[in-house]
Amino acid sequence: MSHVNEIFGSLVFNDATMREKLPKETYKALKRTIQNGKSLDPAVASSVASAMKDWAIERGATHYTHWFQPLSGVTAEKHDGFIAPTDDGGVIMEFSGKELIKGEPDASSFPSGGLRATFEARGYTAWDPTSYAFIKDSTLCIPTAFCSYGGESLDKKTPLLRSMEAINRQAMRVIRLFGNDDVKNIVVTVGPEQEYFLIDKKYFSQRNDLMYCGRTLFGAMPPKGQEMDDHYFGIIKPRVKAFMKDLDEELWKLGILAKTEHNEAAPAQHELAPIFTTTNIAADHNQLTMEIMKKVANRHDMVCLLHEKPFDGVNGSGKHNNWSLSTDTGVNLLEPGKLPQENAQFLTFLCAVIKAVDEYQDMIRISAAGAGNDHRLGALEAPPAVVSMFLGDELTGILEAIENNTVYAGHEENQMKIGVHVLPPFPKDTTDRNRTSPFAFTGNKFEFRMIGSSQSISDANTVINTAVAEALKQFADILEAEKDDFNNALNRLIRDTIKKHKRIIFNGNGYDDAWIKEAEERGLDNLRTTPDCLPRMISEKNIKLFTDHKVFTETEMRSRYDILIENYCKVSNIEAATMANMCIKYIIPAVTNYIGELSATANASKAACKNAICSYEEKLIEKLSCLANRLYDHNELLEELIVKANDISSFQEKAELYRDEVIPQMARVRETADCLELITSKKYWPLPTYGDMLYKL
Ligand code: ADP
Ligand code: MG
Repeated sequence: MSHVNEIFGSLVFNDATMREKLPKETYKALKRTIQNGKSLDPAVASSVASAMKDWAIERGATHYTHWFQPLSGVTAEKHDGFIAPTDDGGVIMEFSGKELIKGEPDASSFPSGGLRATFEARGYTAWDPTSYAFIKDSTLCIPTAFCSYGGESLDKKTPLLRSMEAINRQAMRVIRLFGNDDVKNIVVTVGPEQEYFLIDKKYFSQRNDLMYCGRTLFGAMPPKGQEMDDHYFGIIKPRVKAFMKDLDEELWKLGILAKTEHNEAAPAQHELAPIFTTTNIAADHNQLTMEIMKKVANRHDMVCLLHEKPFDGVNGSGKHNNWSLSTDTGVNLLEPGKLPQENAQFLTFLCAVIKAVDEYQDMIRISAAGAGNDHRLGALEAPPAVVSMFLGDELTGILEAIENNTVYAGHEENQMKIGVHVLPPFPKDTTDRNRTSPFAFTGNKFEFRMIGSSQSISDANTVINTAVAEALKQFADILEAEKDDFNNALNRLIRDTIKKHKRIIFNGNGYDDAWIKEAEERGLDNLRTTPDCLPRMISEKNIKLFTDHKVFTETEMRSRYDILIENYCKVSNIEAATMANMCIKYIIPAVTNYIGELSATANASKAACKNAICSYEEKLIEKLSCLANRLYDHNELLEELIVKANDISSFQEKAELYRDEVIPQMARVRETADCLELITSKKYWPLPTYGDMLYKL
């Protein structure tokens, strides 16, 4: 373990390194900036830059980059060398404070949803000093926010930071009412569990669908799927183990707290869970984790698939976003506690989350929307598209007793008076067992399970933080006005909140069709697909939420809606075109060749034996050509629909055509092709099979 101590954070310009490398005054000034979120003094910046540069060069860095998260969802970087020419024809290594604080990448090739007029192609990046600089591939990376010159955010970090400020502001108001005068700051803590698949590289390069779309568009199920439940927590294969060891080390060097690595439910599926940290750092780390997973897999001759649904018929991959609030004094606000005051505070924050999730269920759904995740939400292994909350029977029972002024079973007191009585104990561990709930309370945090495995966690956390900030704001408004009668006011507030928002609480099986029906009766949204939910993003209610809390401007929200709907269309188009192409170029020719071989042998056997009436070859040929004809026709219609979609100019309408016509047609093409796979000789079948990819590592 001492080895881990040595490498952990060795490539990060973290607090310990700063303390060691920076002049005392600079260190103190930077710390103040980090704690108060104020902008950095230029004199301090140049001192930090110089120390950072020396530290990075000592570790082999030659370049630096402002590392940021544009709206494409992947990270971006533009590398600049440290070298600067000297008068005598030599070079020196340079890095100024100005270069540290601000960069100016050409923004024109990043999506902006029309925010950046074409004549203003520039954007700028600004260092987020709360996220440490690090070295990756001989490059000093400076985590930054990315904005247009007009100040509109063009990235996923800026709104996340703004939402953290919003929730801090409102949570502080509430916590003051409970008399916690020592608390200076409240941060959102997040631990995102990341699922992924590993397959052999040689299979990947033989499949255009995997290369262009990240998921298989064809593939019949092998005789063995995941029905035996033998993969989850099963023995890890040696190649995977070597990958995980290597991955852990790379992540540790970057100060990422990778903790548990295990197999997941599907064959070839795995999970990595980090130890939780402050949201924006968790988001940066998760982006880095995804990037490094791919890189390390490549070193091991494997490919890491982060798509939400790489294989039909086996579980898809998601991200479980564990979310809580913590004070700078180390108190988890979603920890029930042991004293009446602690319980009252816990219930207040719990109710704020319940209210937030109920009121902004559509935005929460949107935060996990995307073409890839549509295959997962509502299928059998992921939470459904309906947002609901799991609290467990005990906690739900307690809330019901509070709502109805009745006695909670096993509790001696007559009624629970918030702020006066202690909550009856409820076992923590009954909580996490319902894996079907999109938003589950797991004892001292919430676990949001809708995010797709390839998506940035920033969007979801921006939404959750802002929605909870709004609920806390309303609570604070009410409670501040009734300070003199605090306990009674709080009792009323909690009772009213439960009454009004309990429809969002559901402890049963979220995969059950009966639940979807019931949810609709309760008035909950069932926004099945991306084109269904995205228009809600620009509803009056949602624009008001984000503008009130200064997380997005209305223009920023509209531009983000544009980018998301356009992205859905682009992804659908690439997938449909890839499918049509694979069908005509690979699958139909393979079947034709096989039919050719079969008819040659049929003819040969007829010539040898005149009495042969109906040979197996002819039976097979009939089946094959019947299916191949059907496949050809389905594929032709698919091609027509692709053209039809391309002719539509409105992205919302285009997206709806993909949803209603193209995607169902793709299912027909696939079904027919998969039937052909089952009866075509392995010798001719042009694609590695599910059996190859899922079992042969
Ligand atoms: P499991 O889900 O495997 O039972 P845990 O529930 O203990 O394990 O943790 C799952 C994830 O939740 C981990 O990434 C962990 O760091 C994170 N987590 C634990 N406590 C918190 C918290 N207070 N805030 C945010 N994330 C947390
Ligand atoms: Mg968990």
